[in-house]
Amino acid sequence: MSKKWRLTERTKTLLTLELAIVLPAAALMGFSIWNLKHIQRDKSVEAAIQRDFQHVLKIAERTSWHQAKDLIAPVRKEFPNPDDGPQIKAKLERVLLAHPEYAYAALYDKKNNLLVTRMQPGRDHDQAFCGFTQEDINMLASWLPSEASSTVKHLRKMKEEESWGLYGGWTLHGNQHAYWNVAYFIPEGVSPDRVALGMVAFDEDYLRKTFFPTVVKDVLSSKSTVLRADANLPVMMIHAPRDSTPWVASTDWDGGEPEEERRFADVFPDLILAIKYQGTTIADIGNRFLRYNYIVLGALSVLMVGGIWLTYRNVSREMNLARLKADFVANVSHELRTPLALIRLYAETLELGRLTAKEKYQEYFRIIREESERLTALINNILDFSRIEAGRKEYEFKETNMADLVRSTLDSYRFQIEQNGFAFEENICSDIPPVSVDREAIARSLLNLVNNALKYSKDQKYIGVSLYQANSRVNLEVRDRGIGIPPNEQEKIFEKFYRCGDPLVHNIKGSGLGLSLVRHIARAHGGEVLVESTPEKGSKFTIALPLDPSLRTAQAAA
Ligand code: ADP
Repeated sequence: MSKKWRLTERTKTLLTLELAIVLPAAALMGFSIWNLKHIQRDKSVEAAIQRDFQHVLKIAERTSWHQAKDLIAPVRKEFPNPDDGPQIKAKLERVLLAHPEYAYAALYDKKNNLLVTRMQPGRDHDQAFCGFTQEDINMLASWLPSEASSTVKHLRKMKEEESWGLYGGWTLHGNQHAYWNVAYFIPEGVSPDRVALGMVAFDEDYLRKTFFPTVVKDVLSSKSTVLRADANLPVMMIHAPRDSTPWVASTDWDGGEPEEERRFADVFPDLILAIKYQGTTIADIGNRFLRYNYIVLGALSVLMVGGIWLTYRNVSREMNLARLKADFVANVSHELRTPLALIRLYAETLELGRLTAKEKYQEYFRIIREESERLTALINNILDFSRIEAGRKEYEFKETNMADLVRSTLDSYRFQIEQNGFAFEENICSDIPPVSVDREAIARSLLNLVNNALKYSKDQKYIGVSLYQANSRVNLEVRDRGIGIPPNEQEKIFEKFYRCGDPLVHNIKGSGLGLSLVRHIARAHGGEVLVESTPEKGSKFTIALPLDPSLRTAQAAA
């Protein structure tokens, strides 16, 4: 009956636990794992970063265009007009002197087949520069007669302040590739039907060392460059289409494959912007993100399992306690009833006055006394226990001669022990210094131990009690040769209500309180109760008390 009740209670608890915690938590975990798998398959982390990178590259392109525009706008204002005649050259020179970022300036007028050019006067002494620049000018001169008309036509269609363009590409200077870029526009005051073009060519060194590094730096440090994996440093470079070596690179560029690239549209033709993270790749970041999430998920699962285990353990413990309490009530009622029935039976027999032999009277009186003593002991145990549970148990410590206390306690019990056919051995050491104890509590502990030895012995009827001093302690020892206690139950027997699983134990009356009281009493004295036991061989219980009372206070307080 009790087994069935336990099973349903336990199943119920498990079901509640599962429904209330495990199912939702497991569903959440499952969903997160599914989500992560999904992310992994879709590579969505990587895709998001790539989108960010493309966005940054677009900003870099736009910034370059704006900065080029700002550079060219003043030049257009200062530029000569085809009608300036012989002053054109001097005006071009002035423009170049004011703007060292240009390698040369040129003015073309188709009507007069006029091309006036001037190299940067600041670099007149640089022969290599003059040589390469002249090559570029020659190239321009060959290109203008055929292309100028369509270029002008195209510019005329644009809004006034936007009517300018950039044209560029790679050329060989000696055996080295160099980038050239020419800005073209219609000089101010040229009549609409005339084909005339003003041109300034950017100095390659200026583009490579100043213009683009500034653009890259501005873009990377700008607040609008928000990158998702912002713990990593983005780095940029610019390279030629068929050559991946950086032509311009941000200061912390650390080599390796760029993650994303973008070809400059019309502004700087034939240049490619590239971006990546310093020291890592997008794939790495994606993997790290997944790994991190899996670890967090794993840790959460462990915590959840731990939590469930703890809850389950606590619930089980509470359920066990509830069961033990129920058993306790049954046991105690039984224990109360038996002595009462005996007392009543013998008292009634005495009352009838039919006994003849005087010894019979004596025996009946003794039985009544013993049974009432058992009742008293049981009730004392229960009262003590309830006081302890309510935290109201107080001890009255007095300097005591332990040998006297043990002897007098045993005296009232000796007869009963021997009556039950037990061999009784007493080794009480008399020269133990006085110890400060609660006499009643110690006597009760001893009686509980002796009583257990009586109860849990079968054929080998032996009880030994010893009192001796061991170092700074007084040991009170009770030995028997009874049924013993299995090792895995030796700690549990000191718990309240606990009774060993042995069926024999369940045929013996008991409340499961005795040893828990003994332990409480021993600890209140700063001592401990220890057990050594072998099943079928017997047990030895030792109450070890400190001689020094200060130890008691310290331990009790702890
Ligand atoms: P009770 O004896 O009332 O059941 P106790 O707290 O005194 O309660 O003991 C708890 C359990 O420990 C007992 O039920 C019994 O199983 C076991 N036990 C105690 N003393 C002995 C002993 N001397 N020999 C064997 N088992 C014992």
